[in-house]
Amino acid sequence: MPHAVSRLRDQRLARSQKPFLARGAHLVRCPRCRVGIQYCMCAWQPKVTAHSAVCLLMYDAEPLKPTNTGWLIADVVPDTFAFSWSRTEIDENILALLADPQWQPYVVFPDEYVPVERVVRDVPQAELQAAGKRPLFVVLDGTWTEARKMFRKSAYLAHLPVLSLQPDDISRYRLRRSTREEHLCTAEVTALCLHLAADVAAAQALEQWFARFSRHYLAGRKPPSVAEQHALHNGTAL
Ligand SMILES: [Zn+2]
Repeated sequence: MPHAVSRLRDQRLARSQKPFLARGAHLVRCPRCRVGIQYCMCAWQPKVTAHSAVCLLMYDAEPLKPTNTGWLIADVVPDTFAFSWSRTEIDENILALLADPQWQPYVVFPDEYVPVERVVRDVPQAELQAAGKRPLFVVLDGTWTEARKMFRKSAYLAHLPVLSLQPDDISRYRLRRSTREEHLCTAEVTALCLHLAADVAAAQALEQWFARFSRHYLAGRKPPSVAEQHALHNGTAL
């Protein structure tokens, strides 16, 4: 069955008044992994289990963008839920998911915007286990401005603890992956959350899957050199 983000994409397409033209729309993409068909990465699709779950709240056209990395989370984390965010129409399914006693939801958001009593730094695994709960990371998928809007204007998130990633975790991640981006993308943030929940296999699989996506996606936009082609097809990192 197609995963949650793929289903959301189909629903979003059905609602569109006009066709969505992604950048690089001329490119023939693999419908499964979304990269140029000659650089399809489906053969490397990871298969891991995860104790944690992810709830993606996706801003407007986010599921339609071929660069969206929430898609990669749904590829890797079996319990990934995805919803279109709307300020006015609240999907009952979001409320039901957040109220489901098997989950302990955490909204992933920077602490500087949140009252201190809501902020948590860690996922207390023993405590959750004793309560029979599994972590559910609520990840706001959009630009930074959109994420802030979703956070502020979703009353159903207001009672939930906020998990804030620490600068140390982020800089360790940057060093490991040699990324210089100011903001981590949705998949990277989620990989860090999975690490905090000791879901190491899923965290690593997601990091690697994102790294592969970046390489294959770029290859589709800019023809790779012979050495790069070789590396892409042999599954080795450059
Ligand atoms: Zn593919």
